[in-house]
Amino acid sequence: MPSLTPATEPVFRHSEALLKDVFGYDCFRGRQREIIETVAAGDNALVLMPTGGGKSLCYQIPALMRPGTGIVVSPLIALMRDQVEALKANGVAAAVLNSSLDAQTRRQTEQDLLEGRLQLLYIAPEGLLRESTLDLLRRCRLALFAIDEAHCVSQWGHDFRPEYLQLGALRERFPEVPRIALTATADDRTRAEISRHLLPDGGQTFIASFDRPNIRYRVGLKNNARAQLLSFIDREHRGHSGIVYCFSRKKTEQTAAFLYQNGLTALPYHAGLSADERQARQDRFIGEDGVVICATIAFGMGIDKPDVRFVAHLDLPRSVEAYYQETGRAGRDGLPADAWMVYSLADIVQIRQMQANSSAPETQQRLERERLEALLAYCEHAGCRRPPLLSYFDEDHSGTCGNCDNCLHPPETWDATEAARKALSCVYRTGQRFGAGHVIDVLLGNATERIASLGHDRLSTFGIGADLDRKAWQSVLRQLLALGHLQPDPAGHGGLQLTERCRPLLKGEQHVELRRDAIPVRRKRAFGSRIEIDTESPDWQALRQWRLEIAQEQGVPPYVIFHDATLAAILEARPQTRDELSQVTGVGQHKLDKYGTDVLNVLAGL
Ligand code: ADP
Ligand code: ZN
Repeated sequence: MPSLTPATEPVFRHSEALLKDVFGYDCFRGRQREIIETVAAGDNALVLMPTGGGKSLCYQIPALMRPGTGIVVSPLIALMRDQVEALKANGVAAAVLNSSLDAQTRRQTEQDLLEGRLQLLYIAPEGLLRESTLDLLRRCRLALFAIDEAHCVSQWGHDFRPEYLQLGALRERFPEVPRIALTATADDRTRAEISRHLLPDGGQTFIASFDRPNIRYRVGLKNNARAQLLSFIDREHRGHSGIVYCFSRKKTEQTAAFLYQNGLTALPYHAGLSADERQARQDRFIGEDGVVICATIAFGMGIDKPDVRFVAHLDLPRSVEAYYQETGRAGRDGLPADAWMVYSLADIVQIRQMQANSSAPETQQRLERERLEALLAYCEHAGCRRPPLLSYFDEDHSGTCGNCDNCLHPPETWDATEAARKALSCVYRTGQRFGAGHVIDVLLGNATERIASLGHDRLSTFGIGADLDRKAWQSVLRQLLALGHLQPDPAGHGGLQLTERCRPLLKGEQHVELRRDAIPVRRKRAFGSRIEIDTESPDWQALRQWRLEIAQEQGVPPYVIFHDATLAAILEARPQTRDELSQVTGVGQHKLDKYGTDVLNVLAGL
């Protein structure tokens, strides 16, 4: 049972001591310490930190430092439950108050709260704003309000929740209680909205770097997407948890079935499934090792699983921001993780066509076109992937991260001015009605029946591109599309058209450098950034097996017992005594008491 702290006995404990004793960590990350000290001193704070940056500790530790209960507002019930379980596993008196509780548990929780036995209480916003809850809170001592996923207050965002707007009332109702608002969405407008609605009385803003150095970004060309995905998982992520994002429900089903046939535990997830089915799949993803979820964008928000080792995109995401958020679900534990994507010329044509046929207002359409352009520019980028990603957060990056495809295998570029002009004039001469396949046939001088019947073998551009092969022309056309020199015809027949932008290129006033499409390279890689563990080794398997058994016994996800990073550190340190074990990162006092003997026994038996 967690040790409960009565309210009459406030614990003013040092933040560092709590970090080590309760959470088992040696040092704060980034600006965690400053944030914690600010809130512990009773001031408001706005925290912008990427997914996996370590936001939770920013309110959990001050809640332990200040007398009273810390109230955490979160819109996501599954996430609350996980966080509470993780806290309890560290010996913190935490609970949830939401609509999923039975009457008796609710009463007990309320009683615990009133009598000051809770250190942290998680509540959904609609529950918190109920008059009865507010009354209850008025009768308690409160340490702080933490408003998680604070971007939900933004009416412009995808995650807008009207109740979040009403959270502003907390200021009048509980003027003495500091508020900390946290989010991983950091654009200026959202930031301003959060401050205006949730922290109108001010507060310090803390903006962390949005870089995720442990994530390796890779963008490749699609030729057989599923086979490419399978070989990527097979080579680098056997037995790992991962998310595969697909555009449609049908594709999530097909992809999962394909991976399943190939021996992976893969499950589809999309909005067409019943709530129960979705919950069950999410639970398996969280509770088992090595489940791959093939999902539409409906999946991910509110999943706090730290050991997702890869996020794959089989279709282009909506925008660079969406891509960054989706890929950000990989590697929250700080260990190496992959953001892997493949796309093709056909994908660009398809999206551009959908946009052209959209009935949305013109301003919206323009926004979407710009979004796609930025995304394609990112995909086709020949330099380090991080500067274009981080520029979305107004952050500069040196441009040599050493952990993206372009840094690891710098792509070759070539002067494609001549080729581009040939391609563009061929599109023009054939009447701007034909798709890439036909245009390439004309360029190559393939005298097919269709070409002959159209008289395209008599065009001046017939055969002018015989110096390159089909693949090279595909690459040229794709990049011209991505760069906006070409566009699919709005009628949606897949024909390519010139745009205004290609004029200077056609006139010979502009040069273009295009990248040579990479040939996939095989790579081996280590498990940890600092620690290298052979994940096939029996020792690693034995520790993981032990963890899985304990987790299943307790009905919690394995990472609640110990993170992979902690298991890896244990294997590296090979502690023989409890004292030595307590030095390992991620082993706090409570877990030491609970599992210390077990772990030492497992190690002794290896
Ligand atoms: P966020 O909510 O920002 O996405 P979390 O709070 O879930 O991130 O933290 C991500 C992971 O990093 C968690 O597994 C957490 O235990 C770990 N973590 C946070 N702070 C530290 C730290 N100072 N040292 C080591 N690990 C940390
Ligand atoms: Zn790089």
